[in-house]
Amino acid sequence: MTTFANSPDRFASDRPSILDFGKEDLEKLVVELGEPAYRARQVWKSLYGSLAPSFADMTTLAKSLRGKLEQAYTVSDIETAVHDRSRDASTDKLLFRLRDGELIETVLMRYAADDHRKSRKTVCVSTQAGCALGCTFCATGQQGFRRQLSSGEIVAQVIEMERLARAEDDAEIAAGRRTRGERQGVTNVVFMGMGEPLANYDNTLAAVRVLNDEQGLHIGARHITISTVGLPRQIERLAGEDLQVNLAVSLHAADDRTRAETMPINRRHPIGELLEACRAYVDRTKRRIFFEYVLLRDQNDSTAQAAKLGRLLQGMLCHVNLIPVNPTGAGPYARPQRETSAAFQETLARHGVPSTVRTEKGIDINAGCGQLRARALIG
Ligand code: SAH
Ligand code: SF4
Repeated sequence: MTTFANSPDRFASDRPSILDFGKEDLEKLVVELGEPAYRARQVWKSLYGSLAPSFADMTTLAKSLRGKLEQAYTVSDIETAVHDRSRDASTDKLLFRLRDGELIETVLMRYAADDHRKSRKTVCVSTQAGCALGCTFCATGQQGFRRQLSSGEIVAQVIEMERLARAEDDAEIAAGRRTRGERQGVTNVVFMGMGEPLANYDNTLAAVRVLNDEQGLHIGARHITISTVGLPRQIERLAGEDLQVNLAVSLHAADDRTRAETMPINRRHPIGELLEACRAYVDRTKRRIFFEYVLLRDQNDSTAQAAKLGRLLQGMLCHVNLIPVNPTGAGPYARPQRETSAAFQETLARHGVPSTVRTEKGIDINAGCGQLRARALIG
């Protein structure tokens, strides 16, 4: 299912977006408008609790404040250009148009409860329009870098998905399948869409703080995962933040030669340097690191490579996510046979390295990073 949307007039605004203000900045802004500071909390709750789509909808605010805000700011900077749903209805993929016309992708994945975990709804957000790092298997990497997203543009993606998730909760409550107390909304956020989050460090961290805030969306830090191509200095910096977020590092190979074939970043920051930063991160935070390993047939999926990876990660507090590649239009890569993935996983287990083969979602709607934008531009 695909829905195309048209641009509403409100979008033509050139006022700054209120979503770009952190909690303290919002307080300053409200005071500058001549209002008492506590009103900032009302604005915050309207934005991230009630998800008010406009200032006019913030009915808990004094009319005068609504008017002043309306004159100087807008609520959101993004609009839906394309909305796709997978055939099994587990995955929605949205293409958002930003104010300057840039297109970014956001995915909502619905996971049913199983023996180990409760049901959850995970949003995959973009942090940049495009990406400068050029990984050869990645549709975004093949499109080049366009610009950084602001923190508000990152948060706005979650707000849009939260609206969808809440509407679904309400429908289930109306149908008697869920009680009011079981409202769930978005439960997890992964920074695994377009772009490199740690190359947009400040805006990414500002967005995490907004998402995590108790008076707003209140997404637990442990339910937030930042995925990085592996920038050692930024990993060290992240280790020093007082945040309980998960860190996922895209490794994708166990030796420098193989890794450099698909990830140009490896020429600047080879595996040794990267793992040193990862070990320091684990030492300092006492938190497990997740390593992402995209399985590319005949490129990095042999048992010899699994053994090399096992030796590399042996003894480290970590978990490996094995991801059969989502083939992109341009790339030459194919997914490995199921037995190959299983053998890879067994080899890691023999080295004492835990791993999961990631379940696929949304293959039929090109839910892989950067693929929908590529398709939309092709037409
Ligand atoms: N830039 C960050 C986050 C965005 S990419 C990073 O590279 O980690 C999120 C994850 O999707 C990364 O692990 C990336 O390697 C992976 N990925 C990119 N293209 C893919 C594809 N075609 N199939 C499967 N995974 C892919
Ligand atoms: Fe950029 Fe991540 Fe894609 Fe590499 S995998 S090109 S770092 S978005």
